[in-house]
Amino acid sequence: MAELDVRDPRFERLVDAGAELRTLNSGMGFTEGPVYVAEGGYLLWSDIPNNRLMRWSEADGASVFREGSNNTNGNTLDRQGRLVSCEHSGRRVSRTELSGEVVTLVDSYHGGKLNSPNDLAVQSDGTVWFTDPPYGLPLDGDRNRTGMEQDAHYVFRLNPDSGDLTAVADDFEMPNGIAFSPDERLLYVSDTGPSSHIRVFDVSPAGTLSNGRVFAVVDPRGPDGFRVDTEGNIWTSAGDGIHVFDPAGVLLGKILCPEQPSNCTFGGPEKRTLFITARTSLFAIDVNAAGAQAP
Ligand code: MG
Repeated sequence: MAELDVRDPRFERLVDAGAELRTLNSGMGFTEGPVYVAEGGYLLWSDIPNNRLMRWSEADGASVFREGSNNTNGNTLDRQGRLVSCEHSGRRVSRTELSGEVVTLVDSYHGGKLNSPNDLAVQSDGTVWFTDPPYGLPLDGDRNRTGMEQDAHYVFRLNPDSGDLTAVADDFEMPNGIAFSPDERLLYVSDTGPSSHIRVFDVSPAGTLSNGRVFAVVDPRGPDGFRVDTEGNIWTSAGDGIHVFDPAGVLLGKILCPEQPSNCTFGGPEKRTLFITARTSLFAIDVNAAGAQAP
């Protein structure tokens, strides 16, 4: 049975007291970037240090989906069902065509290489929004990241058809998780720097951000990756498990996890299973909420 920390009665409606936290896989290096491929009925996720993408399905269990992934981190699907991935060592955002070919969507900004794209979300107009902290760059002896060619840790908006890349935010310490509200009028971006918070922005029809404000501070840190359900609640990784916030930023409760989660995503036939990547393991729990993320 999952260990729950109920902070608001509304949480009891979202997660049953007797819900089970299942361990679907373990023994990975560091897991991230879960995405559910509804058409195939399977989950993909990144095992970053082992440079591979993994696959899990109810019927087949876990297997390697791709060896040599350029250390993918965040993954999502675009509206055509194509896998779009942030690559640490590739320093790019890539797309896997339906043929299986992997192509570069973007790998530079203003003539310099991207840092190490971390996580992403695809808007319904096809634009790809992603964060670019330097977590994937090599460390020197003083544990500083080396090889950075950008002057900031940007949040970007990419038009994959035109190739236009726009920096939409430049004041994050470590921009990380990113997701839209169900109506796409709000964009949430987390900061896994010392502030350990999630910020929310208003999104204009032209694709610009305004009115940035702190949505919630995540304690214990940190809000690496998160997803939004159809009611606008935020399900985010935190130091002790998954924290669920209502659209006003009120903490409703926690799903405590035996390993620290990095990210989560909704999947399964009704999008009512929450898959959780947590250090060496992949967990799942059936909940009474459905993911809002496309497709
Ligand atoms: Mg991340």
